[in-house]
Amino acid sequence: MLTLDQVKLKSVSKLSGLQPVIAAGMIALITGCYNRGVQIIITQGLRTKAEQDNLYAKGRTAKQLAAVGLSHVIAQPKEDIVTNARGGYSNHNYGWAIDFALLLPDGRTVSWDMLRDDDKDSLPDWSEVVEEAKRLGFSWGGDWRTFTDMPHLEMVFGLTTSQLREGKKPAVSLITKAFAVIDKYMEEAEEDMSRIEALVKELESTVAGLTNSKDVLKQQSILQAGEIKELSALLLELTDTNPPAWAEDALKAFANTPSVLNGKPVIDTPDKATYAEARLITILYRLGLAAQQKGGK
Ligand SMILES: [Zn+2]
Repeated sequence: MLTLDQVKLKSVSKLSGLQPVIAAGMIALITGCYNRGVQIIITQGLRTKAEQDNLYAKGRTAKQLAAVGLSHVIAQPKEDIVTNARGGYSNHNYGWAIDFALLLPDGRTVSWDMLRDDDKDSLPDWSEVVEEAKRLGFSWGGDWRTFTDMPHLEMVFGLTTSQLREGKKPAVSLITKAFAVIDKYMEEAEEDMSRIEALVKELESTVAGLTNSKDVLKQQSILQAGEIKELSALLLELTDTNPPAWAEDALKAFANTPSVLNGKPVIDTPDKATYAEARLITILYRLGLAAQQKGGK
């Protein structure tokens, strides 16, 4: 997904020449759809009469064009017909209409696929856009009876194209009302946005908290493992009666040393001693207190 600003930027060039209320509606629509997880691009805003004539020429012969006074326009009979409106006969020519398409999640591909559901909410994205557009006060070309125009959205405030052609303008009160609807929609969209942002922040701190407690747990178990190891070493020192090799000579020497108290050997089991005993005996041995040492060799 692109950011909302990136999505808006894709359509910004289509704002020029639009009636202000249509321009406001267009921005609101892009925003509202984005909040629903649907990216759109505006493919058409204002269309000049010459551009409209060229569009009308698609799928029509030179003779057909001449019949409506368009002999100066190049015919494109091999194309499909895309519009029944020649120059001046489309609401696009007066800035009251826009056409949209889907902007796929890659941010580049434009699609007119009306069944796609990229936000996976079981609603075709196209229908979601139409729903938002209607909430904003747009009429949809898909509802037209004679020539359905699925990408087309417009606001004409009850005026017909021929009235627009005559230069009629919609009533100011109707435009004001339309702006109020769009403003309210935008307020809600911004609330939605800040709610989504708050939710994201909350999730982020939850994840951070989980990561933290994971680290604390890890630290604790490392510490505990160290303590257990130290403890077992200590336990081994206290209970292991296999004397270390370095104490062998000292233990043997004292096994041959009679006690001054009763004449019996100081140690009667030189092959058994705990670490602490072995150390003590070795110190005594180094002090030269064993019998053999005294007697000299
Ligand atoms: Zn259109």
